[in-house]
Amino acid sequence: MDHASTPLETVRAGIAKAASIAGRKAEDITLIAISKTHDAEVILPLIEQGQRVFGENRVQEAQGKWPALKDSFHDIELHLVGQLQSNKADDAVALFDCIHSVDRPSLVTALARAMEKAERKLPCFIQVNIGEEEQKGGCAIADLPGLLEQARAAGLPVVGLMCVPPADIEPAPFFAFLAKLAADNGLEKLSMGMSGDYETAIKLGATHVRVGSALFGAR
Ligand SMILES: *Cc1c(COP(=O)(O)O)cnc(C)c1O
Repeated sequence: MDHASTPLETVRAGIAKAASIAGRKAEDITLIAISKTHDAEVILPLIEQGQRVFGENRVQEAQGKWPALKDSFHDIELHLVGQLQSNKADDAVALFDCIHSVDRPSLVTALARAMEKAERKLPCFIQVNIGEEEQKGGCAIADLPGLLEQARAAGLPVVGLMCVPPADIEPAPFFAFLAKLAADNGLEKLSMGMSGDYETAIKLGATHVRVGSALFGAR
């Protein structure tokens, strides 16, 4: 009897297929397993299957489970994908390895200061409010060049752009727009695509896909 595919195998196959359709290499796409709301006992099986890159959306929640896991598995990479308050910048820089949610001048200042203090430079993505939604995190599209200039001047290692497109609309135009903004601003990495649309995002250039429920089940 064939063994059933694990969710991780299914997502990896989806990434490989989308990459191949787009003429890209699957190795050039980083799968970030978004483990928010899930405990270590749910995360461990994924680690045992070889997954090493994880993401959380809240600093405090991540502080509760990741220090022990990182002690046991030294090659784990932890990404912060949710909104960050400036007063948590030190905590975030101590625990995470990459920040996807840089979206305003005060946070650029706080992160640059925290990284200098900790002598630890983390790659950062600027989050863009690509659908110009009122409640959504991310900088306004018009504010991107200025924020990027400030971040570069402050020594923040900005590697790319991140977005969460509006729900319940075809995401492809938003992904394509984010890719264009990145190219226009000399940025190589694109953090875009979640459980429902990571294949589309890969076809449009995603280098980092953030997948939660397709790996861990519904929250
Ligand atoms: C929760 C979350 C994800 C993962 O969403 P799924 O639909 O469960 O894959 C991706 N990005 C961010 C910013 C999130 O908060």
